[in-house]
Amino acid sequence: TINEHEPDVFEAGVATVCWLRVALDVPLPGLFDYSSDHAVAVGTRVIVSFGRRNMVGIVVETPHAPTIDASRVKAIAQVLDDLPPLPADWMRLAKFASQYYQRPLGEVMLPALPAGLRKVAAYQGKRAAGGPVHRIDKRAASVVEAIAADHIPPLNAQQADAVRIINEQRGHQTLLLHGVTGSGKTEVYMHAAQAVLAQGLQVLLMVPEINLTPQLEHSLRARLAALAGVDALAVLHSGLAEGERLRAWLSVQRGHAQVLLGTRLAIFTPMPKLGLIIVDEEHDASYKQQDGLRYSARDLAVWRAHDRQVPVILGSATPSLESWYHTERGHYLKLSLPHRARPVDLPVVKLVDTRRLALQQGFSPQLLEAIGERLDRGEQALVFLNRRGYAPVLNCGSCGWVSQCPRCSAYTVLHRGGGRNYRLQCHHCGHQEQAPRACPECGDQDLHPMGRGTQRVEEHLAQWFPKARIARIDADSTRLKGSAAALFARVHAGEFDLLVGTQMVAKGHDFANLGLVGVLNADAMLFAQDFRAPERLFAQLMQVAGRAGRHVQGGQVIIQTDYPEQPVYQALVRHDYAGFAQYSLAERESIGLPPYAFQALLTAEARELNQALAFLAQARTLLQEQAGADASGLTLYDPVPLRVVRVADIERAQLLVESRRRPVLQVFLAQWSAALPALAAQARVRYQLEVDPLEI
Ligand code: ADP
Ligand code: ZN
Ligand code: ZN
Repeated sequence: TINEHEPDVFEAGVATVCWLRVALDVPLPGLFDYSSDHAVAVGTRVIVSFGRRNMVGIVVETPHAPTIDASRVKAIAQVLDDLPPLPADWMRLAKFASQYYQRPLGEVMLPALPAGLRKVAAYQGKRAAGGPVHRIDKRAASVVEAIAADHIPPLNAQQADAVRIINEQRGHQTLLLHGVTGSGKTEVYMHAAQAVLAQGLQVLLMVPEINLTPQLEHSLRARLAALAGVDALAVLHSGLAEGERLRAWLSVQRGHAQVLLGTRLAIFTPMPKLGLIIVDEEHDASYKQQDGLRYSARDLAVWRAHDRQVPVILGSATPSLESWYHTERGHYLKLSLPHRARPVDLPVVKLVDTRRLALQQGFSPQLLEAIGERLDRGEQALVFLNRRGYAPVLNCGSCGWVSQCPRCSAYTVLHRGGGRNYRLQCHHCGHQEQAPRACPECGDQDLHPMGRGTQRVEEHLAQWFPKARIARIDADSTRLKGSAAALFARVHAGEFDLLVGTQMVAKGHDFANLGLVGVLNADAMLFAQDFRAPERLFAQLMQVAGRAGRHVQGGQVIIQTDYPEQPVYQALVRHDYAGFAQYSLAERESIGLPPYAFQALLTAEARELNQALAFLAQARTLLQEQAGADASGLTLYDPVPLRVVRVADIERAQLLVESRRRPVLQVFLAQWSAALPALAAQARVRYQLEVDPLEI
């Protein structure tokens, strides 16, 4: 058909045809060919018909000829020109992520865009508004309320050194900022950012989870707004409404916003004037996306900084062993902040050996006494317990029955509602039921909770310290949107004396009046089968310990354990991250685990466990055949059921693949992943392939 608006493309009555190779968000490998009667630049979004519906896609290549018969190539339906084409470096990042994480390009690119930019409905049909961008322009308001920067302290000598070295960087360098808890890493980020902004360049500052650390976000916003102006800051995280997210994205992509503060998804934002990337708490597992494209935003940040030839700062008190390894090898440049920024010492860490102690509801006399002392002094105390609910399981004293989820191979957790109302909840599938009053097996009424969760600990503390104002901070007490921020605001305002919390309280908070941290039940994490368990435990305890005594002298940490001689605990007492890292790396090297090896994990889900295992066995054979004689460079483990094998009536198993050399693994994964969809369809299983899995 003749396009009335663009008659120029006709020469002597014959339309010039341009071939476009388009990435679409469909679970099929490869790209899709379309035609256009005029040239369309790479990076442009287009609407095309696919199957029976229209979809938004991205033009990735403009080949000379299509790969299928030209007569079968459909014309695109519409060019979306409300945005300039996605920039070349953004396309490179997406291509890298697609290749490295073994996922079709369209499934990387499209989900990386704000929803409004990839929905056909915004452009076609009844609700079309001429594209979302037009609607946004009118509302291009600032994302920062009327806020004042707090008092800004002058840098101490170590901070100043770190900033100087960062500012000296020309081109690409990965810098590991290893600063103890409370060493003032944030100030270093701010000064480094300031220098970059002064050159008219953009800064990407990534944090693990914005909603969990409203205070950090608030102070970062205030500082950044003071540095760059209120309108110069954009914030991106998954909790934003669609429109807010789109607005922030556009503002950064146009170069209006100079600073982007965001969670892992922010790594995929086009930044025309990128000058610096900062990854705060780089060890944090929330940089890893756990579904869809299972990327590590930290690793992509390093790749992107290299690609753009700009510096990237990875900051942490407990760097990942991967980052530490690169630093030891000289790949990354280490910057150290060994002391706290305020004139206070690191807290004294004490281990309480619980093997021969009579505990009261899980508490040692030492811990109870220490809490009492802090409360008497008017300081806050925190009890850390990584287990929410009332008790991990309900048990019959008569026949031994334990509460179990009907749909999962897991116990149900006892939760206390109001008053005497108890419910059983599955933390894997969400199944809920009223807790029985009598044993379902034997009818006996001798049912009792086994073990303790945060609710039960809160209850006991209220009995022992009746005057203390207690706050419980966990996923249950902060379920409503905005309630975590409100609760933390009250904690900071001094409305509570005693805090009981899960890992939510361990992260980033700068509590002014907290003198004591008590840790219950840490041993549970010590012997998890995952080889990263000790690393995670160390980081978590170091972080939670770091909440004590940040503003007041005399901070103290009490860890109750049955295994005080374990290297993890010994290193904590000495605040010895480097020693722990050295010990752990030596251990990993001797058994050939990451970072000395590279892994990929194939997970299969099916109605029957045998189906999942059979699929994995076939996949294993296939990989062996593909690798042929070169298979010596690969280690293929046996397919095994997951520890929690059944979740929501689906059985799960996994196959681990490993190599000492990353390129070897990458080559084989590419061939292998191309063949997996057909194999999985035949076996009727769902599968995921994860590169660099964090949990195995
Ligand atoms: P980190 O992120 O390293 O744990 P923060 O950045 O939260 O530490 O800083 C810890 C505390 O020290 C904050 O209250 C901060 O305001 C304060 N602080 C940072 N730098 C200085 C400095 N140079 N002088 C005095 N206080 C500082
Ligand atoms: Zn019973
Ligand atoms: Zn369940």
